[in-house]
Amino acid sequence: MPHPLVALTASSKAASRPGKYSRVRVNEAYVRALQSVGLVPLVIPPSLSPDEARAVVARVSGVVLSGGEDVDPARYGAARHPATQKPKAARDATELALVEAARDAGRPLLGICRGLQLLNVALGGTLVQDLGMLRPSEVGHSQESSGTQRVHGLTILSGTRLHAAVRALAIDVNSIHHQAVDRLASSLHATAYAPDGVVEAVETAGDWWTLAVQWHPEELMEDAQPWDRAIFEAFAQACGMAADAHI
Ligand code: MN
Repeated sequence: MPHPLVALTASSKAASRPGKYSRVRVNEAYVRALQSVGLVPLVIPPSLSPDEARAVVARVSGVVLSGGEDVDPARYGAARHPATQKPKAARDATELALVEAARDAGRPLLGICRGLQLLNVALGGTLVQDLGMLRPSEVGHSQESSGTQRVHGLTILSGTRLHAAVRALAIDVNSIHHQAVDRLASSLHATAYAPDGVVEAVETAGDWWTLAVQWHPEELMEDAQPWDRAIFEAFAQACGMAADAHI
């Protein structure tokens, strides 16, 4: 099927003051990255009921969980750390429902940054709420420079879906996150680590195609290194097969 449709999650932004407008928004880099590999992204508002999430998943060939706000720690049974952002309950609920629907329907799922963290929480894992305060290290995970700069290395595990996609065992990535996986969900495998041991990629074993990364490959699509484009290409290939099989 040409032009597979994929759901792309978005965040909401409150009106800055009375008389201004609240908005649904997503960084355009995700849209461009998905279109560049032949996918048609449909931007999904962060306000779906579980039934609506299921209806969306039934009509698309894949799901992309984009980056954004911290997941509400209540979702993994923890009290909110002072460094954790105010919860966005509707976005959390929307994306948790999308994960469940994608798993039930066997749709490929790509998670980016918050998307990795949300996937881990959806499947029963927990998060470190602030790396700088709770797991200080020499690795700067909250880069000050532009997201198009690579700031730390990764070690990728051989034989993983991530390895098959990027065809390398050591790559450099950007890093725009202050949270990370703490306890990994039992159905996920860690597939890449930063030098300080922070989990930088996860995937499920078995038939359900998932791949989630802690960095932002969508900001590195123009980079000389092919690693980040390869992640989107692998997702597009999985969506193409899902489109043939299901739709
Ligand atoms: Mn990092």
